[in-house]
Amino acid sequence: MPKKKKIPSIVKDIQNQVQHEVNYAYEKSISYSQLSMYTECPKKWSLQYKEGYKQFTSSIHTVFGTALHETLQKYLEVMYNESGAEADRLNTSEMLEENLREEYKVQYKKNKNQHFLKPEELREFYEDGIEIIREFAKNKSKYFSKRGWYLVGCEVPLMLKPSPTHTNLYFQGFLDVVLYNEKTNKFLIMDIKTSKSGWYKDQKKDELKQFQLILYKKFFAEQYNVSIDNIDIEFFIVKRKIYEHEDFTIRRIQQFQPPSGKIKLNKATQTLNKFITEVFDREGYKDIEHQPTPNKNCGWCPFHKTHLCSATY
Ligand code: SF4
Repeated sequence: MPKKKKIPSIVKDIQNQVQHEVNYAYEKSISYSQLSMYTECPKKWSLQYKEGYKQFTSSIHTVFGTALHETLQKYLEVMYNESGAEADRLNTSEMLEENLREEYKVQYKKNKNQHFLKPEELREFYEDGIEIIREFAKNKSKYFSKRGWYLVGCEVPLMLKPSPTHTNLYFQGFLDVVLYNEKTNKFLIMDIKTSKSGWYKDQKKDELKQFQLILYKKFFAEQYNVSIDNIDIEFFIVKRKIYEHEDFTIRRIQQFQPPSGKIKLNKATQTLNKFITEVFDREGYKDIEHQPTPNKNCGWCPFHKTHLCSATY
């Protein structure tokens, strides 16, 4: 049995921090998803979050994303807290299948007990997931070193006030994976993205996508009292499909570290502050109507062509 490493106190403090529980009777919370939705279309955000038109938006992509996240996170927890060999002994195929089944059950209930996926779709995604896990486990030491590194946690919570003028407002988030290196005193925040064939130039350049990890970095530093200069961020993108090439190997795993220096940090903060001030006053939601901004994603919007939004793009 390998000797367990002593967990650094900075890691223990983060793990033991008690989180504020939002009381929705007089407090509100926002998240990166809300910011992203508002930036794309204020009307869509308003219908969903302010007016409470809860729409069923689950799909094979969200079910698969959740199930795969849970499986990879479990693997990492065992790898860091026990050993790599122990993680390899996990029956990850069975875990993925079970996680898919459980997540589908939850979403099926939310969909008023109506099926929304075909068994063959689930099977195809399951098989893609198996391939991703296989490459992940085979190359674990390339992506996740254990030398000097500790797993702070998976789904590490963020819950803090994002604006000094809005004292009843909280920013809420969950960080997929957070690691700490004792030698360099650096943290690494990772966000796992499932993707069909990876991120190309356009996705990498998309500032709104980048803002997710940039804001997580800013708020992680604030909430856990860590120097922002000691935090790195990374999108860990796993691809369902790879197209074989005879001359080189195409990997299923892609890593992307978005720029997160002062300029980007200011831009992300300004975008968040604009959202907050346009939407909230000191008491809660402002009593104003938010306008639609028709865009290329209208076709997938749950309010598209309904009495709630008749805008076309
Ligand atoms: S259909 Fe388009 S314009 Fe209307 S709410 Fe949805 S995203 Fe906005």
